[in-house]
Amino acid sequence: MPRRLAYKGGCRLTKRTPALDIIENAALQTQEELGYPEELLVTSINDSSHGTHSKHWRELAEDYRTKGPAKNDMGSTAKKQKFRKRFEENCGARFRVILEAIGTPNEHLHAQLKKGLEAYP
Ligand SMILES: [Zn+2]
Repeated sequence: MPRRLAYKGGCRLTKRTPALDIIENAALQTQEELGYPEELLVTSINDSSHGTHSKHWRELAEDYRTKGPAKNDMGSTAKKQKFRKRFEENCGARFRVILEAIGTPNEHLHAQLKKGLEAYP
């Protein structure tokens, strides 16, 4: 399966940090290994509504769509959890990936530099 990654309209960033390189490359590697989804969709970087101290505001976190449209859908909850686990492994020990808001319209994968780490590398 060819590696494909797209950005949702309104997805904003001011700089592409090394941390985002790690996250995006790990997401693409996971897509290649597992064979889904057809296209990774980054839904948020430095935009939308995140907590005051969120890593999103410093380009150290990204959100990924887990649900439809079909090309972005990761499938069953088990497949989403499998993707989450492998994605986190591919990011390396300094990163964390969480499946947030499971079963809600806001469900997504959140990938970030671990809490307590303020910069990467
Ligand atoms: Zn997030």
